[in-house]
Amino acid sequence: MIKRILVTGGAGFLGSHLCERLVAQGHDVVCLDNFFTSQKSNIEHLLDCRNFELLRHDVTQPILLEVDEIYNLACPAAPGHYQFNPIKTLKTSVLGAINMLGLAKRVRAKIFHASTSEVYGDPDVHPQPESYRGNVNPIGPRACYDEGKRCAETLMFDYHRQNKVNIRVVRIFNTYGPRMHPYDGRVVSNFIRQALSGEPITLYGDGSQTRSFCYVDDLIDGFLKLMAAPDDLTGPVNIGNPHEFTIRELAEKVVARVGGASRIVQARELPPDDPKQRKPDITLARTRLGWEPRVPLDQGLAKTIDYFRGIEFAKFRPPTPNF
Ligand code: NAD
Ligand code: UDP
Repeated sequence: MIKRILVTGGAGFLGSHLCERLVAQGHDVVCLDNFFTSQKSNIEHLLDCRNFELLRHDVTQPILLEVDEIYNLACPAAPGHYQFNPIKTLKTSVLGAINMLGLAKRVRAKIFHASTSEVYGDPDVHPQPESYRGNVNPIGPRACYDEGKRCAETLMFDYHRQNKVNIRVVRIFNTYGPRMHPYDGRVVSNFIRQALSGEPITLYGDGSQTRSFCYVDDLIDGFLKLMAAPDDLTGPVNIGNPHEFTIRELAEKVVARVGGASRIVQARELPPDDPKQRKPDITLARTRLGWEPRVPLDQGLAKTIDYFRGIEFAKFRPPTPNF
């Protein structure tokens, strides 16, 4: 059945891939974005599709739209982006969730919320199952993002319990792929950009901290499965790739694949509250959604490197001040 679907943050890295998939399925897609961390080039190829519509709007302000489903992705996601204006980040998570849940309640739409593995903070349980309540510093530099996302989850479940809103909460673990912003400061984009430009590869700390990297196509499969799942599967559901790598291993893989002369250097101390390890327990997604990632890191890196080779870094700007 063709649905009217709103995607907030739809011009971003993940949002643009999601819009692409929903448009290809024939749905009537409204992409809402304020372009804080993205640019139109991410969705340029969709602008001529008759079932795609672009709205410049900020989720901290209410909006009324007649839709059947909402994917709420609007929020800066990279540490450099979300720490640029931390108060705005909190407003985006919290007021954005309130506005989208209010809309979902009013028009009886099903709402999907993009939460994050950051709700686990610097985890002392490894790998992280959904039942783990996390180890977040509420007053550190990452708190605007982590606590904003935790509060948004609370809002989702309170609207569900109090107003019977049909919700889906996904906890996304580090995801990479084409259309990552080349200056977002995230590890995959930094390392590939540095390797392609022949600059030093900047390890933070000694590179022994770990992350588990999911290729974007796998993640979007998980989103679509969760949205289509039976209504009792509210989540939260972890979606991510459980193959864990140290950041040094990632640097070595990128250098080997790009070639060139880049050296791996220890550029700075580990940033404050930087999680030392992260790996999803995806038992719930496997058993309830029949989902698991298919794209191995080497294959996903090759596709991402191809994308970065094809863009002009000078055409990308850093976040706009937006208070
Ligand atoms: P992104 O920065 O590329 O996309 C976010 C989009 O939201 C951008 O287009 C941005 O302009 C828009 N936006 C920001 N504030 C807004 C506002 N106030 N109003 C309207 N639009 C706004 O990041 P992404 O990686 O695509 O992340 C998408 C979502 O997934 C985010 O909610 C993020 O927290 C979550 N997530 C991503 C990852 C990951 O590894 N990529 C991991 C965990 C969670
Ligand atoms: N990192 C790094 N060099 C960089 C950028 C990041 O060593 O140029 C490290 C960072 O300190 C963290 C890991 O890579 O330990 C992942 O960082 P990212 O910002 O991509 O995501 P997050 O910390 O939110 O998982």
